[in-house]
Amino acid sequence: MTIRLSIVVPCFNEHEVLPETNRRLLDLLTRLRALDLVSEASSVHYVDDGSRDGTWALIEQLAQADPRVHGIKLSRNRGHQAALMSGLLTVEGDAIVSIDADLQDDVNVIEAMVREYIGGAEVVYGVRDSRATDTGFKRSTALMYYGLLRRMGVDLVHNHADFRLMGRRAVEALRQYGEVNMFLRGIVPMIGYRAATVKYDRAERFAGESKYPLRKMLAFAIEGITSLSVVPLRLITLLGFLVSGFSFAMILFIVYGTLVLKAAIPGWASSVVPIYFLGGIQLLSIGILGEYVAKIYLETKRRPRYFIERTV
Ligand code: UDP
Ligand code: MG
Repeated sequence: MTIRLSIVVPCFNEHEVLPETNRRLLDLLTRLRALDLVSEASSVHYVDDGSRDGTWALIEQLAQADPRVHGIKLSRNRGHQAALMSGLLTVEGDAIVSIDADLQDDVNVIEAMVREYIGGAEVVYGVRDSRATDTGFKRSTALMYYGLLRRMGVDLVHNHADFRLMGRRAVEALRQYGEVNMFLRGIVPMIGYRAATVKYDRAERFAGESKYPLRKMLAFAIEGITSLSVVPLRLITLLGFLVSGFSFAMILFIVYGTLVLKAAIPGWASSVVPIYFLGGIQLLSIGILGEYVAKIYLETKRRPRYFIERTV
Protein backbone atom coordinates (compact mmCIF):
# COMPACT_ATOMS: atom_id res chain seq x y z
CA MET A 1 0.00 0.00 0.00
CA THR A 2 1.25 3.45 -0.93
CA ILE A 3 -0.19 6.46 0.84
CA ARG A 4 -0.12 10.14 0.17
CA LEU A 5 1.62 11.64 3.17
CA SER A 6 1.56 15.30 4.19
CA ILE A 7 3.83 16.69 6.88
CA VAL A 8 2.72 19.84 8.68
CA VAL A 9 5.31 21.98 10.43
CA PRO A 10 4.26 25.06 12.46
CA CYS A 11 6.97 27.72 12.36
CA PHE A 12 7.28 30.83 14.45
CA ASN A 13 10.57 32.67 13.87
CA GLU A 14 12.36 29.50 12.83
CA HIS A 15 14.62 30.68 10.01
CA GLU A 16 17.67 29.32 11.82
CA VAL A 17 16.52 25.72 11.84
CA LEU A 18 14.31 25.59 8.80
CA PRO A 19 16.97 24.75 6.17
CA GLU A 20 18.12 21.76 8.20
CA THR A 21 14.56 20.69 9.01
CA ASN A 22 13.68 20.90 5.34
CA ARG A 23 16.73 18.87 4.32
CA ARG A 24 15.88 16.09 6.74
CA LEU A 25 12.18 15.99 5.89
CA LEU A 26 12.85 15.86 2.16
CA ASP A 27 15.45 13.14 2.65
CA LEU A 28 12.86 11.24 4.61
CA LEU A 29 10.23 11.64 1.89
CA THR A 30 12.73 10.46 -0.71
CA ARG A 31 13.49 7.40 1.38
CA LEU A 32 9.84 6.60 2.05
CA ARG A 33 9.18 7.00 -1.67
CA ALA A 34 11.99 4.56 -2.49
CA LEU A 35 10.46 2.09 -0.03
CA ASP A 36 7.18 2.60 -1.86
CA LEU A 37 5.46 3.54 1.39
CA VAL A 38 4.38 6.98 0.21
CA SER A 39 3.28 8.31 -3.15
CA GLU A 40 4.87 10.87 -5.45
CA ALA A 41 2.34 13.48 -4.30
CA SER A 42 3.56 13.43 -0.70
CA SER A 43 4.60 16.81 0.60
CA VAL A 44 5.82 19.05 3.39
CA HIS A 45 3.78 22.09 4.50
CA TYR A 46 5.33 24.85 6.57
CA VAL A 47 2.83 27.03 8.41
CA ASP A 48 4.28 30.44 9.05
CA ASP A 49 2.61 31.58 12.27
CA GLY A 50 3.18 35.30 11.81
CA SER A 51 6.97 35.16 12.03
CA ARG A 52 8.95 38.38 12.09
CA ASP A 53 12.34 37.04 11.07
CA GLY A 54 12.14 36.21 7.39
CA THR A 55 10.78 32.72 7.91
CA TRP A 56 8.19 33.25 5.17
CA ALA A 57 10.74 34.41 2.62
CA LEU A 58 12.73 31.28 3.41
CA ILE A 59 9.66 29.08 3.02
CA GLU A 60 9.00 30.64 -0.39
CA GLN A 61 12.58 29.88 -1.40
CA LEU A 62 12.32 26.29 -0.21
CA ALA A 63 9.02 25.88 -2.06
CA GLN A 64 10.59 27.19 -5.23
CA ALA A 65 13.52 24.82 -4.94
CA ASP A 66 11.44 21.68 -4.52
CA PRO A 67 7.90 20.96 -5.73
CA ARG A 68 7.23 18.83 -2.64
CA VAL A 69 7.52 21.88 -0.38
CA HIS A 70 4.54 24.13 0.33
CA GLY A 71 3.84 27.03 2.65
CA ILE A 72 0.84 28.44 4.45
CA LYS A 73 1.17 31.97 5.76
CA LEU A 74 -1.14 33.02 8.58
CA SER A 75 -2.13 36.65 8.77
CA ARG A 76 -0.50 37.04 12.19
CA ASN A 77 0.79 35.05 15.15
CA ARG A 78 -2.05 32.86 16.41
CA GLY A 79 -0.06 30.39 18.48
CA HIS A 80 1.22 26.88 18.03
CA GLN A 81 -2.15 25.09 18.28
CA ALA A 82 -3.92 27.38 15.82
CA ALA A 83 -1.01 27.08 13.40
CA LEU A 84 -1.24 23.30 13.65
CA MET A 85 -5.00 23.37 13.11
CA SER A 86 -4.66 25.53 10.02
CA GLY A 87 -2.27 22.99 8.53
CA LEU A 88 -4.27 19.93 9.53
CA LEU A 89 -7.52 21.34 8.18
CA THR A 90 -6.05 22.69 4.95
CA VAL A 91 -3.66 20.14 3.49
CA GLU A 92 -4.67 17.11 1.49
CA GLY A 93 -3.36 13.59 1.85
CA ASP A 94 -4.32 10.21 3.29
CA ALA A 95 -2.33 10.81 6.43
CA ILE A 96 -0.94 13.96 8.03
CA VAL A 97 2.05 14.06 10.34
CA SER A 98 2.51 17.10 12.57
CA ILE A 99 5.99 17.85 13.83
CA ASP A 100 7.73 20.87 15.41
CA ALA A 101 10.20 22.80 13.31
CA ASP A 102 13.05 22.59 15.81
CA LEU A 103 14.05 18.94 15.20
CA GLN A 104 13.52 17.95 18.82
CA ASP A 105 11.32 15.17 17.51
CA ASP A 106 13.06 12.43 15.58
CA VAL A 107 12.14 12.79 11.92
CA ASN A 108 13.09 9.18 11.23
CA VAL A 109 10.32 7.65 13.32
CA ILE A 110 7.83 9.00 10.76
CA GLU A 111 8.60 5.82 8.86
CA ALA A 112 7.39 3.74 11.82
CA MET A 113 4.30 5.98 12.03
CA VAL A 114 3.48 5.37 8.39
CA ARG A 115 3.91 1.64 8.85
CA GLU A 116 1.54 1.70 11.82
CA TYR A 117 -0.98 3.63 9.75
CA ILE A 118 -0.73 1.16 6.90
CA GLY A 119 -1.11 -1.56 9.50
CA GLY A 120 -4.49 -0.11 10.46
CA ALA A 121 -3.94 2.57 13.10
CA GLU A 122 -5.85 5.80 12.47
CA VAL A 123 -3.80 7.88 14.91
CA VAL A 124 -0.14 7.27 15.77
CA TYR A 125 1.34 9.11 18.74
CA GLY A 126 5.01 9.94 18.95
CA VAL A 127 6.03 9.24 22.53
CA ARG A 128 9.35 10.39 23.89
CA ASP A 129 11.36 7.80 25.73
CA SER A 130 13.02 10.13 28.18
CA ARG A 131 13.01 13.79 28.97
CA ALA A 132 16.76 13.86 29.47
CA THR A 133 17.18 16.90 27.23
CA ASP A 134 14.64 19.03 29.11
CA THR A 135 15.68 21.21 32.02
CA GLY A 136 14.90 19.88 35.51
CA PHE A 137 12.35 22.66 35.94
CA LYS A 138 10.47 21.84 32.76
CA ARG A 139 10.60 18.14 33.48
CA SER A 140 9.19 18.37 37.00
CA THR A 141 6.51 20.97 36.24
CA ALA A 142 5.40 19.03 33.16
CA LEU A 143 5.19 15.83 35.17
CA MET A 144 3.11 17.49 37.88
CA TYR A 145 0.88 19.22 35.38
CA TYR A 146 0.07 16.14 33.32
CA GLY A 147 -0.50 14.15 36.50
CA LEU A 148 -2.98 16.81 37.59
CA LEU A 149 -4.75 16.81 34.23
CA ARG A 150 -5.09 13.07 34.33
CA ARG A 151 -6.55 13.18 37.84
CA MET A 152 -9.11 15.65 36.53
CA GLY A 153 -10.28 13.03 34.12
CA VAL A 154 -8.48 14.20 30.99
CA ASP A 155 -7.41 11.36 28.73
CA LEU A 156 -3.81 12.03 27.69
CA VAL A 157 -1.10 9.96 26.10
CA HIS A 158 1.87 9.86 28.45
CA ASN A 159 4.92 11.79 27.21
CA HIS A 160 3.27 12.74 23.97
CA ALA A 161 3.15 16.31 22.69
CA ASP A 162 2.18 17.30 19.17
CA PHE A 163 4.26 14.86 17.15
CA ARG A 164 1.67 12.52 15.67
CA LEU A 165 0.21 11.02 12.56
CA MET A 166 -3.49 11.36 11.86
CA GLY A 167 -5.34 9.53 9.13
CA ARG A 168 -7.90 11.30 6.97
CA ARG A 169 -10.80 9.97 9.05
CA ALA A 170 -9.28 11.29 12.25
CA VAL A 171 -8.62 14.69 10.67
CA GLU A 172 -12.19 14.92 9.44
CA ALA A 173 -13.36 14.02 12.93
CA LEU A 174 -11.14 16.72 14.36
CA ARG A 175 -12.72 19.23 12.01
CA GLN A 176 -16.02 18.70 13.77
CA TYR A 177 -14.74 19.91 17.12
CA GLY A 178 -16.06 23.43 17.17
CA GLU A 179 -13.97 24.99 19.89
CA VAL A 180 -11.86 27.90 18.80
CA ASN A 181 -9.19 27.39 21.45
CA MET A 182 -7.84 23.94 20.86
CA PHE A 183 -5.71 21.82 23.13
CA LEU A 184 -4.91 19.21 20.54
CA ARG A 185 -3.14 16.65 22.68
CA GLY A 186 -6.26 16.42 24.83
CA ILE A 187 -8.78 16.46 21.97
CA VAL A 188 -7.21 13.90 19.64
CA PRO A 189 -7.54 10.97 22.10
CA MET A 190 -11.26 11.83 22.37
CA ILE A 191 -11.75 11.00 18.72
CA GLY A 192 -11.24 7.32 19.35
CA TYR A 193 -10.45 5.06 16.38
CA ARG A 194 -7.53 2.71 16.53
CA ALA A 195 -4.38 4.29 17.92
CA ALA A 196 -0.75 3.23 18.16
CA THR A 197 2.39 4.75 19.63
CA VAL A 198 5.98 4.91 18.45
CA LYS A 199 8.87 5.76 20.73
CA TYR A 200 11.77 8.10 20.13
CA ASP A 201 14.43 10.02 22.01
CA ARG A 202 13.75 13.70 22.20
CA ALA A 203 16.75 15.77 21.15
CA GLU A 204 17.81 19.28 21.99
CA ARG A 205 16.42 22.08 19.87
CA PHE A 206 18.65 22.13 16.77
CA ALA A 207 18.99 25.93 16.61
CA GLY A 208 17.26 29.06 17.84
CA GLU A 209 15.45 29.45 21.15
CA SER A 210 12.25 28.02 22.55
CA LYS A 211 9.20 29.86 21.26
CA TYR A 212 7.40 28.99 24.47
CA PRO A 213 8.47 31.43 27.16
CA LEU A 214 7.07 30.87 30.66
CA ARG A 215 4.17 33.23 30.00
CA LYS A 216 2.97 31.29 26.95
CA MET A 217 3.55 28.04 28.79
CA LEU A 218 1.31 29.13 31.68
CA ALA A 219 -1.43 30.30 29.33
CA PHE A 220 -1.20 26.97 27.52
CA ALA A 221 -1.42 25.08 30.83
CA ILE A 222 -4.55 26.96 31.95
CA GLU A 223 -6.04 26.48 28.50
CA GLY A 224 -5.48 22.74 28.83
CA ILE A 225 -7.34 22.52 32.11
CA THR A 226 -10.25 24.85 31.39
CA SER A 227 -10.89 23.48 27.92
CA LEU A 228 -10.92 19.85 28.97
CA SER A 229 -12.09 19.61 32.56
CA VAL A 230 -14.76 21.06 34.82
CA VAL A 231 -13.29 19.42 37.90
CA PRO A 232 -11.99 22.77 39.29
CA LEU A 233 -15.58 24.02 39.41
CA ARG A 234 -16.63 20.93 41.33
CA LEU A 235 -13.72 21.40 43.69
CA ILE A 236 -15.11 24.82 44.57
CA THR A 237 -18.42 23.23 45.48
CA LEU A 238 -16.64 20.64 47.55
CA LEU A 239 -14.63 23.33 49.28
CA GLY A 240 -17.85 25.22 49.99
CA PHE A 241 -19.32 22.14 51.63
CA LEU A 242 -16.22 21.57 53.72
CA VAL A 243 -16.00 25.15 54.93
CA SER A 244 -19.73 25.28 55.67
CA GLY A 245 -19.52 22.04 57.61
CA PHE A 246 -16.57 23.35 59.54
CA SER A 247 -18.36 26.63 60.36
CA PHE A 248 -21.42 24.72 61.50
CA ALA A 249 -19.31 22.61 63.85
CA MET A 250 -17.74 25.81 65.13
CA ILE A 251 -21.17 27.31 65.89
CA LEU A 252 -22.18 24.21 67.83
CA PHE A 253 -18.94 24.39 69.74
CA ILE A 254 -19.45 28.06 70.60
CA VAL A 255 -23.05 27.50 71.74
CA TYR A 256 -21.91 24.58 73.83
CA GLY A 257 -19.10 26.65 75.32
CA THR A 258 -21.40 29.54 76.19
CA LEU A 259 -24.38 27.61 77.55
CA VAL A 260 -22.79 24.59 79.16
CA LEU A 261 -19.23 25.49 79.99
CA LYS A 262 -20.16 29.14 80.66
CA ALA A 263 -16.89 30.11 79.09
CA ALA A 264 -17.31 32.64 76.37
CA ILE A 265 -14.42 32.23 74.01
CA PRO A 266 -12.43 35.41 74.14
CA GLY A 267 -10.22 36.18 71.27
CA TRP A 268 -9.64 38.30 68.38
CA ALA A 269 -7.87 35.74 66.30
CA SER A 270 -10.79 33.36 66.23
CA SER A 271 -12.96 35.98 64.58
CA VAL A 272 -10.47 37.75 62.37
CA VAL A 273 -8.60 34.77 60.92
CA PRO A 274 -11.74 33.21 59.41
CA ILE A 275 -12.55 36.49 57.72
CA TYR A 276 -9.27 36.51 55.87
CA PHE A 277 -9.38 32.80 55.28
CA LEU A 278 -12.89 32.83 53.82
CA GLY A 279 -12.12 35.99 51.88
CA GLY A 280 -9.17 34.21 50.31
CA ILE A 281 -11.19 31.14 49.43
CA GLN A 282 -13.94 33.26 47.95
CA LEU A 283 -11.56 35.27 45.80
CA LEU A 284 -9.88 32.12 44.59
CA SER A 285 -13.23 30.54 43.77
CA ILE A 286 -14.42 33.62 41.93
CA GLY A 287 -11.13 33.58 40.03
CA ILE A 288 -11.66 30.00 38.92
CA LEU A 289 -15.27 30.77 37.99
CA GLY A 290 -13.94 33.76 36.07
CA GLU A 291 -11.60 31.54 34.05
CA TYR A 292 -14.54 29.49 32.85
CA VAL A 293 -16.78 32.49 32.28
CA ALA A 294 -14.00 34.05 30.21
CA LYS A 295 -13.76 30.80 28.28
CA ILE A 296 -17.50 30.80 27.58
CA TYR A 297 -17.28 34.44 26.57
CA LEU A 298 -14.47 33.77 24.12
CA GLU A 299 -15.97 30.60 22.69
CA THR A 300 -19.48 31.99 22.17
CA LYS A 301 -18.07 34.64 19.87
CA ARG A 302 -17.11 31.85 17.48
CA ARG A 303 -14.27 33.90 16.16
CA PRO A 304 -12.27 32.34 13.34
CA ARG A 305 -9.20 30.48 14.55
CA TYR A 306 -6.88 31.90 11.90
CA PHE A 307 -6.73 33.54 8.50
CA ILE A 308 -4.55 32.23 5.74
CA GLU A 309 -2.92 35.15 3.98
CA ARG A 310 -1.04 33.31 1.25
CA THR A 311 -0.03 29.82 0.23
CA VAL A 312 2.75 28.49 -1.97
N1 UDP B 1 5.26 27.79 17.42
C1 UDP B 1 4.28 28.42 16.66
N2 UDP B 1 3.67 29.54 17.16
C2 UDP B 1 3.97 30.06 18.38
C3 UDP B 1 4.95 29.39 19.18
C4 UDP B 1 5.57 28.27 18.66
O1 UDP B 1 3.96 27.98 15.55
O2 UDP B 1 3.39 31.08 18.77
C5 UDP B 1 5.93 26.59 16.89
C6 UDP B 1 7.45 26.63 16.88
O3 UDP B 1 7.94 27.26 15.71
C7 UDP B 1 7.82 25.17 16.95
C8 UDP B 1 6.69 24.57 17.77
O4 UDP B 1 5.61 25.51 17.74
O5 UDP B 1 7.80 24.56 15.67
C9 UDP B 1 7.09 24.28 19.21
O6 UDP B 1 7.72 25.41 19.77
P1 UDP B 1 9.07 25.27 20.62
O7 UDP B 1 9.92 24.19 20.06
O8 UDP B 1 9.70 26.63 20.71
O9 UDP B 1 8.50 24.86 22.04
P2 UDP B 1 9.27 23.98 23.16
O10 UDP B 1 9.78 22.74 22.47
O11 UDP B 1 10.35 24.83 23.68
O12 UDP B 1 8.19 23.68 24.16
MG1 MG C 1 10.79 22.59 20.81
